[in-house]
Amino acid sequence: MNKKDVLQFEKLLLDERKRFIIELSQIESEGLMSNPKESSGDLSSYSYHPADQGSDTMEKEKNVFLASAKGNELYEIDQALLRIKDGKFGSCQRCGKEIEKERLEAVPYALQCVKCRRLEENERKISQGG
Ligand SMILES: [Zn+2]
Repeated sequence: MNKKDVLQFEKLLLDERKRFIIELSQIESEGLMSNPKESSGDLSSYSYHPADQGSDTMEKEKNVFLASAKGNELYEIDQALLRIKDGKFGSCQRCGKEIEKERLEAVPYALQCVKCRRLEENERKISQGG
């Protein structure tokens, strides 16, 4: 991969990163807004209206899930940017071969080539016992 390509992907990654941070802050502020009741940390009030809190909790859990999924991707973007700095961008973390350019165009923060990615997914399935 030549320097020009790397620069192009770096720009892509920085754009993605900006987008993720905006999305994450939106999820966070929505989470806060869905809980307008005083959040003074008063633990004695948590059991007052369990029925009312059901949907609230689910909404919050959804936000946490979204935030963590996004957070993971943000982490991967950061890793890719670090690899650009180290001059390792575009080579597979696992086998060291070049990652397919089409793959990087689809997922600029991919750390593994298609083959290793598949291998790892298979290993994960096996380690989960089915
Ligand atoms: Zn590989």
